[in-house]
Parts: sequence; structure tokens; C-alpha cells
Amino acid sequence: MPGMTDQLPATLIVNTLNGALGLLNQAREFAKHSKDIELKQKLSEIQDALMEVKDEVNKLSDDNEELRKRLLQKENVKLKGEFGYFYKDGDDSPLCPKCFQKDGKEVFLPPLEEWGNDGLRRKCTVCDYVKFERRPKADKVLSSRSDWQDISGYTR
Ligand SMILES: [Zn+2]
Repeated sequence: MPGMTDQLPATLIVNTLNGALGLLNQAREFAKHSKDIELKQKLSEIQDALMEVKDEVNKLSDDNEELRKRLLQKENVKLKGEFGYFYKDGDDSPLCPKCFQKDGKEVFLPPLEEWGNDGLRRKCTVCDYVKFERRPKADKVLSSRSDWQDISGYTR
């Protein structure tokens, strides 16, 4: 059949299923004139089963497409620099590493914002991931407190 090799396996399966459903409809037409209730019942069950298979194949096909997209995306997105950001080829804006690694979503991080005492950070607008590109300096008031350990992560 020409062009057949261009088709996705899922498309071929759906075509075959549609053929089977067509044959089934013909069988049901013949069965109309039959008084055999069980035959009609069985034909009906076969149709339900085939429709279920068709749904499953469509779902698998969608999953497949999604994976294909992610794979393509991974080839074009690289981990770069000291902050652990991902960048798209030819693009200088960092992507949120959490969104990208967890959900395969390409979410640009917003520009740096000043935070705390001389700190600089970016915060993802989608997942709230926060990355300090420069830690805020420890506050003198805080540094004399007994819970120093809790904030020691903010020193440089
Ligand atoms: Zn994010």
C-alpha cells in the first residue's frame, strides 16, 4: 500500500480496528433478521470491546506524541552555568530547572530581583522555585540570635 510506511503504528492499528468495526456492523445487520438473542448480545459485547481497544490505542498514541516532543525538547535544551539553569539553544534566558525536570515544561525564569540585604534571586512564577544568584548578607540583628543555624544558609 503506498504511503503505508509513513504511518504511525497507532494509525495502522486504528485503521485495522475500524475495518473490524465495519465487519462487525455487517454481522449485526445479518443478525437483525435472526431470532438468536445471544448472538446479538455477543456482537454487542464485541463492539464494546473493540471500542475500548480503540480508546486505549488513542491514549497510547497521545502519550507517544508527548514523549516524542519531550525527547526533541531535551535535545534542544542544555544545562549550563554555575546556577544549574537550563537554556534553550540560542536563547539567553534561563528556564526553571524544577518545571523542566519535573514536568518537561519550558518556563522562563523572570529577571533577577533584589532580595533581602544585597541578595539577588529569581523566582519561578509557576512553581515558586527560588534560586539565589547572590545570597543576601546576614542581618546583624539576626546573626546575634540563637537561631543562627536556621539562617546560616544565607551567609556568603
Ligand atoms: Zn518552575
